[in-house]
Amino acid sequence: MHKIIPSVFIFFICISSLFAQQPNKPKASEIFHDLQKLNFLGSALYIAAHPDDENTRLISFLANDIHARTAYLSITRGDGGQNLVGPEIRELLGVIRTQELLAARRTDGGQQFFTRANDFGYSKHPDETLEIWNKDEVLKDVVMNIRRFKPDVIVNRFNHRNPGTTHGHHTASAMLSMEAFDLVGNNTMYPESVNEFGTWQPKRLLFNTSWWFYGSKEKFEKADKSKLVEVETGNYYPALGLSNGEIASLSRSMHKSQGFGSTGTRGSQTEYLEFLKGDFPENKKDIFDGINTTWSRLENGQAIGVILKALEENFNFKNPSQMIPELMKAFDLIKELPNGHWKSIKLEEIKNIIVSCSGLFLEAVANEQNVNPKGDLKVTIEAINRSNANIQLGSITSPCIAFPVSFKATDLDKDEKYTLESTENTFSGTNFSTPYWLKEKGTIGMYHVSNKELIGLPENEHEFPVTFNLAIEGRNISITKNIIYKYNDPVAGEVYQPFDVLPEVTSSIPEKVLIFSSNDSKQIPVKVRAGKDNVSGTITLQHPKGWLISPDHQLFELSKKGEEKTILFTITPPKNQSEGYLKTLVNVGDQFYNKELIQIDYDHVPYQSVLLDSEAKIVRINIQKKGEHIGYIKGAGDAIPESLKQIGYKVTTLLPSEINNKNIEKFDAVVVGIRAYNTVPEMEFKQEILNQYVFNGGTVLVQYNTRHRLVTKDLAPYSITLSKERVTDEFSEVTILEPNHEVLNKPNKISSTDFEGWVQERGLYFPSEWASEFTPILGMNDKAYPESKGSLLVANYGKGHYIYTGLSFFRELPAGVSGAYRLFANLLSIGK
Ligand SMILES: [Zn+2]
Repeated sequence: MHKIIPSVFIFFICISSLFAQQPNKPKASEIFHDLQKLNFLGSALYIAAHPDDENTRLISFLANDIHARTAYLSITRGDGGQNLVGPEIRELLGVIRTQELLAARRTDGGQQFFTRANDFGYSKHPDETLEIWNKDEVLKDVVMNIRRFKPDVIVNRFNHRNPGTTHGHHTASAMLSMEAFDLVGNNTMYPESVNEFGTWQPKRLLFNTSWWFYGSKEKFEKADKSKLVEVETGNYYPALGLSNGEIASLSRSMHKSQGFGSTGTRGSQTEYLEFLKGDFPENKKDIFDGINTTWSRLENGQAIGVILKALEENFNFKNPSQMIPELMKAFDLIKELPNGHWKSIKLEEIKNIIVSCSGLFLEAVANEQNVNPKGDLKVTIEAINRSNANIQLGSITSPCIAFPVSFKATDLDKDEKYTLESTENTFSGTNFSTPYWLKEKGTIGMYHVSNKELIGLPENEHEFPVTFNLAIEGRNISITKNIIYKYNDPVAGEVYQPFDVLPEVTSSIPEKVLIFSSNDSKQIPVKVRAGKDNVSGTITLQHPKGWLISPDHQLFELSKKGEEKTILFTITPPKNQSEGYLKTLVNVGDQFYNKELIQIDYDHVPYQSVLLDSEAKIVRINIQKKGEHIGYIKGAGDAIPESLKQIGYKVTTLLPSEINNKNIEKFDAVVVGIRAYNTVPEMEFKQEILNQYVFNGGTVLVQYNTRHRLVTKDLAPYSITLSKERVTDEFSEVTILEPNHEVLNKPNKISSTDFEGWVQERGLYFPSEWASEFTPILGMNDKAYPESKGSLLVANYGKGHYIYTGLSFFRELPAGVSGAYRLFANLLSIGK
């Protein structure tokens, strides 16, 4: 098969997000921009931790103003963030945020790389981060990315010197960059990437600082700036019709899942870069000072520069194809250069400029969005030359599909569309389409990728390539396109999607965590979906010991591709506490399938098919509870109501307008969702009602809120002060401060084992001060931090109980953590 190399893609500015999936069709002014870039031989690599950390102003400035080859190395794919556009979280959110970064780079002109590190959630300190990530492996990936991209300048987003003042991932990204800078030139360090890409020493390492890192604008004014490089990044680019600030905002606005829409700015804007390592720049206004970034950087390069600079000076905007003869002279000279890093990059760039100048359009379109391995696929080729350039299509080759052997080399005459269909039944693709880093099971901190060639790449590249072997003005030039799928939407018009290979059958258990709080059986729906017409077989559920599934297997029959059926299984739990996974297994003929298909479809990123193991966690909890009917006031959104229903509570969700004395008196407890006091303005006027309800004998349980932007400070009958205190280590020891307190004893006896198996963190935004009426129940802390006692506070008020907790029940209950359920049931049972 083909060797996968990171694409040396040509620069383009793609302004409309709706067309992010459309092929690039550069205007004359954009080709001019590409030519300016062809004439700059320098590279910059920006390093930070997450999608959205990157300063798009600086990336756009490097790519569009300086015309440098610019890339952003994001250590993670942002799997741990929140999703404001849909239900995907964790790894699936990482898929969306990867695509958002690619969309951002298509907009600002950069390239995108990653390491295998997983964004496992918030960490306070880089020490914790680097332990969970496996520091050596992430450093190895950073070193490999630098050796492959070969930047002259590396720019860190974060300060490596202030651990503990920001997200641990942020500081860790800067620390890794500092360390990597000293290792990349050493051929004894990480020899695997030395063999592949050679060693490399960047000229300097800078830190993209700002007044924020100095504490205030006043402090920054007074600070010593002798080590700061200062660049003006507010320029306007006539060829693109946009200012740098406008491009930066368009790029930043691609982070839609994080709600980072941003409005463009115009006018001057200074960026500061603190010198950290390497050669100090004498000209403190030039990031590339002391680096030859012209064609004379290469042996025999000067003559190429003379030709291409002249073309840039006298660019033919009216008819770019008239520049092809001069471009060809430069192309020939580049081909004669000794093999090396810049030669392959510049050859690819000039090739794409020649193609753009000739208005050459090449495409390989599948007749279906997806087929099964070796499935019935028809690919139609379109090739058209829209200039007077002399172009011949010599052959069309592909490792995955054949074209008629009768094909003869053909001239592509101006505006004469050439089409060709692939030979029937020749598609040989067998690899399922799914993001490469999700193919194998990783750890909490690291993705596992066996195929070393893929590590660092943003996504699978050219999985289904078709190569057009052309002769343009007598020179052999090959252009490879990936097979794509497109269709006409009555509203959106032409819609492009990636072409995929998918299994004949996929299956799923829609409920991902199933809680059994008694010996009772439950009927569980399982879905089976056809990946082709007329498919039938059997489906079984694999399960842990002690659990009973009935029936043992079931038959299914589906007649249409895409059709889905729901099949019911009865699950009986064991008598004692137990947990494990249910996995579906579908048998068709002699093939077995165990994947679930997840389709991610948003306007701002290309359509994605993701195949994950089809499974659900099953948990049998020994749990007692008092009370039955819970009122739930929704905050920023969490799945606590669904979790409570699973253990037998009746839950009624209350709109703010429904919170009145009469409505809530019937509930055994009222639970307030996460960040309700941050996001629901009406809460300011409802507190009196909640307090009265408690006074009369009710229980109110309030989950975490952040201390900023509270709609009211009076969120309890007694005074309480929220803070930033959090415990991010989910394994940290929990001290029981009040062993005899009701919430630790009735109806469930809580012990240290109930704090085992928690996920992501213990809790966040704990109160730091509270009135003496509150009893702190638990103590906990992260390594090297003082103990927090504010994670769970209980107070009597009148005849009832008020509870404030920053414990992250909103993560633990949906993840099926037994101990969290038992403790939550006790909180709801208090006083009953
Ligand atoms: Zn971040």
